[in-house]
Amino acid sequence: MSETPIIDPIDLARTLIRCASVTPADAGALGVLQDVLEGMGFRCTRYPFGEGDMRVDNLYARLGTDAPNICYAGHVDVVPVGDAGAWRHDPFGGVIEGGILWGRGTADMKGGIAAFVAAVSEFLEDGKEFDGSISFLITGDEEGPAVNGTQKVLQAITAAGEIIDHCLVGEPTNPNTLGEMIKIGRRGSLNGVLTVIGTQGHVAYPDLAGNPVPTLLKLLTALSSKKLDDGNESFQPSNLEITSVDVDNPAHNIIAGAASAKFNIRFNTEQTGGDLLDWINSEIEIAQHGFDGRIEANLSVPGHPFLTKPCKLSDKLSAAIEDITGHRPALSTSGGTSDARFITHYAPVVEFGLIGKTIHQVNEHAEIADIKNLKQIYKAFLVRYFGA
Ligand SMILES: [Zn+2]
Repeated sequence: MSETPIIDPIDLARTLIRCASVTPADAGALGVLQDVLEGMGFRCTRYPFGEGDMRVDNLYARLGTDAPNICYAGHVDVVPVGDAGAWRHDPFGGVIEGGILWGRGTADMKGGIAAFVAAVSEFLEDGKEFDGSISFLITGDEEGPAVNGTQKVLQAITAAGEIIDHCLVGEPTNPNTLGEMIKIGRRGSLNGVLTVIGTQGHVAYPDLAGNPVPTLLKLLTALSSKKLDDGNESFQPSNLEITSVDVDNPAHNIIAGAASAKFNIRFNTEQTGGDLLDWINSEIEIAQHGFDGRIEANLSVPGHPFLTKPCKLSDKLSAAIEDITGHRPALSTSGGTSDARFITHYAPVVEFGLIGKTIHQVNEHAEIADIKNLKQIYKAFLVRYFGA
């Protein structure tokens, strides 16, 4: 292991950004990583799942055979560029200007992955003896449906006897400055589509029609006016947001035949997905009462809430961040879902990466200095994790 090449995090980030890996395309990004990791002595296995345009490729790589196995998890897929003409640089050009690396996926999260790979290369180069293993679980399906990604890789590697002892997800967790926030849990997410089906008719003859709109409004009012909980010491209160109400009726003299609405609930550990589903179904039953038509509901729970209690993992990571930035990070459960929701069933998991300010936006970017400092933090974390 003495011949470990030193990886430059900026060069690697630029190479990854030049792969236009919009989900589910891999565009060579996993191959770039595999080559680099194999050069560092990692054993790499690809895990492609799905068919047709759901097919995605994934990579698991491990160095060492002993426990503890610290796994770095992330994704090389990116969201679409949006208005390509509004970018100041080619979103897949890997351009550096003004001390900033521009491009889709820079912060979310190719810059983070490159920083960790570089950190491992320096950790190994320093000749640090370490008892344990370092692994990477890199998916190509985080920004998409997340069906053929992390979830299935975890099942497959577990079936093959792999054990992950701790996991660090490299999502961009910092709102404004590097080192201010670690995520130690995430809220759950529930999606709902409600369709109220009545009877279309002339607005002058309401008796001959069945207007679905008042029933939909009544139901939405019942759902959105309930206070779900007050939150708890680790989570903000659960919240239901109505995201769309659709009747699609351009005429003034027609009672529409159907009306639908979409909503999402972000919920904390005071709730379970099952209890929320029961509550929504009971409200539907009440709204159905006295209404001649029918109400259809399409409800799903893509993510359940989880919390990783303060442990070796969050302690060592916090200390590493303080080593490099001089500040202790906040431990937060805010924000959207991530693949950590799957990993939590296998190992304690925390998340820490770059700054999230520009992710999913036109002109996504990261400061060169932040990528380099993130590499320093990750390296300090490895030193502390393995007690070397
Ligand atoms: Zn991401």
